[in-house]
Amino acid sequence: MGAITLQKVSKSFGDVTVIPGVDLEINDGEFVVFVGPSGCGKSTLLRLIAGLEDVTSGAIRINGTDATGMPPAKRGLAMVFQSYALYPHMSVYKNIAFPLKMAGQDQAAIKQKVESAASVLNLTDYLDRRPGQLSGGQRQRVAIGRAIVREPDAFLFDEPLSNLDASLRVNMRLEISELHQSLATTMIYVTHDQVEAMTMADKIVVLRAGNIEQVGSPLELYRNPANAFVAGFIGSPK
Ligand code: ADP
Ligand code: MG
Repeated sequence: MGAITLQKVSKSFGDVTVIPGVDLEINDGEFVVFVGPSGCGKSTLLRLIAGLEDVTSGAIRINGTDATGMPPAKRGLAMVFQSYALYPHMSVYKNIAFPLKMAGQDQAAIKQKVESAASVLNLTDYLDRRPGQLSGGQRQRVAIGRAIVREPDAFLFDEPLSNLDASLRVNMRLEISELHQSLATTMIYVTHDQVEAMTMADKIVVLRAGNIEQVGSPLELYRNPANAFVAGFIGSPK
């Protein structure tokens, strides 16, 4: 289960209001893309859902339970960062196993989960390597592997492909879409890239200055953009 609801969620840093108030419904299993220009609040919104930032006002519900103020580890979500955030001195195996070890799982269970994730992500031959011995795409797969083994209710991706070159980005985009199909788990994916949004999303959330301009399927937004900003951003002819 990975249903997430935002009710009048706002966020200010000191005197500066970054998110004035957002209402949003994310259904279990949906691939939702937050898209919008740099600085519009995409990462902040994702961090509020993850619990890495506290809301200034409003409520976040996860699977029907009030998760506002709940610590990140209790929310059942896994975040994948663009910087990978891998441990350089640990092998790929240990990097992927890390959250399970922290959770106190036994070696046999850890081994089974790490090997299964590695197989899905084509990392089986790389488990003994360190992150420094991997390509950018492989490092990103390790970061995703570390999220998969936790079996989260939802994956939160913050511009996971922005450090990769263009051709690798296309491959990873397809891999993440395939992963979504095979796991059928909710994914929230932040990007400023219209092409990623249009090709990956079940539902696109267009943000501008912390406000939601429109929510809809790629086709709905393309055919019926709510305003010139959405039309311009999505690239529809209106
Ligand atoms: P995006 O991810 O869409 O590029 P962010 O969510 O990172 O945008 O940032 C939205 C706005 O909030 C920006 O103006 C940014 O400077 C501001 N902001 C983000 N985090 C903080 C923080 N910890 N303190 C102060 N301002 C912040
Ligand atoms: Mg950001």
